[in-house]
Amino acid sequence: MTNDERRHDVAVIGAGGAGSMAHLRAVLNGDDSVIFTGDPTTKRKGRSTWVTHVDNIPGMHELGRPITAAANGTLKWIAADETLNHNHTVVKAAVTKVDRDGDDGFVLHWSEKGEARSLRARFVILATGIMDVQPEIGGSIKPILPFANRGDVHY
Ligand SMILES: Cc1cc2nc3c(=O)[nH]c(=O)nc-3n(C[C@H](O)[C@H](O)[C@H](O)COP(=O)(O)OP(=O)(O)OC[C@H]3O[C@@H](n4cnc5c(N)ncnc54)[C@H](O)[C@@H]3O)c2cc1C
Repeated sequence: MTNDERRHDVAVIGAGGAGSMAHLRAVLNGDDSVIFTGDPTTKRKGRSTWVTHVDNIPGMHELGRPITAAANGTLKWIAADETLNHNHTVVKAAVTKVDRDGDDGFVLHWSEKGEARSLRARFVILATGIMDVQPEIGGSIKPILPFANRGDVHY
């Protein structure tokens, strides 16, 4: 059972550089896209929060968190454009589970103020970056990366 009967064309999980660009592309294509920006725990693990400055791109020298600022700027730019923003939904939460929606599409689950929420999307784009904690797939964690789950920072 979903909270929202509307089915989105695209759901993007993660709002770092990759996720915000995927969401922008979907919206520019005329697709109804929803982007999940994560929660404080996933944001701490996101690569972009570790980048305090970018020396080789003009305009990014003075930004405190340049990649995060650029991704947030993209979402604000879409929201301000009346020809695009009807296809733009932002959910400030972390997706906890993705189920198949019959044979066609997916149901994404998250919680908001302790309440279980869900929505449907035809396609899902995983843009969660390299996480040090691997997802459980089919109830188990198979080692994909030998160094995963240690909580290190990886380049
Ligand atoms: C120390 C360091 C320095 C770097 N310096 C540079 C540099 O100078 N220049 C440069 O170009 N690159 C640099 N990089 C690399 C750059 O940060 C990454 O390539 C880039 O941020 C990766 O983008 P991403 O969108 O794939 O992932 P991330 O930036 O990791 O974003 C992933 C997002 O997914 C979200 N997320 C995760 N799980 C969920 C979930 N379940 N539900 C919803 N959201 C979720 C997180 O909150 C996060 O916002 C550096 C990286 C590090 C670690």
